[in-house]
Amino acid sequence: MKIPIIYSDEYLLHAPPLHHAENPERLRVALSNLKNNPILSPENVGEEEPKIIHEQDYVNLVKLSSKRAEWLDADTYTNEYTWKSALLALGGSLTAYKNQGFALVRPPGHHAGKAGRAFGAPTLGFCIFNNISYPILKFNLKRVAIIDFDVHYGNGTQDIFWDNPEVVHIDVHQDPHTLYPGTGFPDMIGEGEAKGTKINLLLPPLSGDDLYEELFPLIQSILDDYKPSVIAFSAGFDGFEGDGLASLRATERTYYNFGLLGLKRRFYAILEGGYSIGLERGLKAFVGGLEGEKKEYIGTKSSEKTRSRFQDFLSAERRILRDYWKV
Ligand SMILES: [Zn+2]
Repeated sequence: MKIPIIYSDEYLLHAPPLHHAENPERLRVALSNLKNNPILSPENVGEEEPKIIHEQDYVNLVKLSSKRAEWLDADTYTNEYTWKSALLALGGSLTAYKNQGFALVRPPGHHAGKAGRAFGAPTLGFCIFNNISYPILKFNLKRVAIIDFDVHYGNGTQDIFWDNPEVVHIDVHQDPHTLYPGTGFPDMIGEGEAKGTKINLLLPPLSGDDLYEELFPLIQSILDDYKPSVIAFSAGFDGFEGDGLASLRATERTYYNFGLLGLKRRFYAILEGGYSIGLERGLKAFVGGLEGEKKEYIGTKSSEKTRSRFQDFLSAERRILRDYWKV
């Protein structure tokens, strides 16, 4: 069955003043690879809604910055349409949740925390409002699993749910010693009753599909144990080999496998990163997985040196997680 894609041309209005990796062309590329899926329009949300997620000061800052078409920081631009596009991106997330769909939204969201920059990040990393968290907070959803496979750590999302035991957040990303935002280590596990519900799984630079593959049994056993009522995918495709901003070597095989995690479960998916080839080939393979398409993709292989670094991360992760999960 084809899943619905949530999209509006208004997502193209948020646009950079100069050349920038996060630009409207990304959505045109993504859409051109999903020609047979039904398209739904995002619902509108009111101007008060971002405060469900973010502190008032941050929301005010975004609105003012958008009015003035200023940069929020060295990475993150706004223009006069940013406020409207960002509100509609929240609406896209709601529509995706209600219809088990995939929202192709801009601006992206997973680096935006409660007060903006999260865990001391240098910038907002192109993000404005945290789209993935909106349905969870608005409807006070319980037993949620967020799976964030963007190559960067979803620091904003983890900050928002840091002490919330109802949200298991599994974030798979490139070693933060080697990539923005510089946090997201395995010992970051949440606080208070939420300890153990924040799970950071690391891949060293140059990791291929073979190393991602070793993470799936671990993710699967956590999901089997937790039995989430809904899986929310923060779907970023910038770990695709040659996508441009990072140095992992994932291909269709990995994104297809992430999509399979949503099979026979309630889910919604929100676009995060992905800047070139990942939006063409990775995104299409992910949707195929979500739809239960039968595919055999050949994956990339990692060097022994990369594998050995990965195994060090994985043993540390298992050691930490064993206190909370059957892994
Ligand atoms: Zn990213």
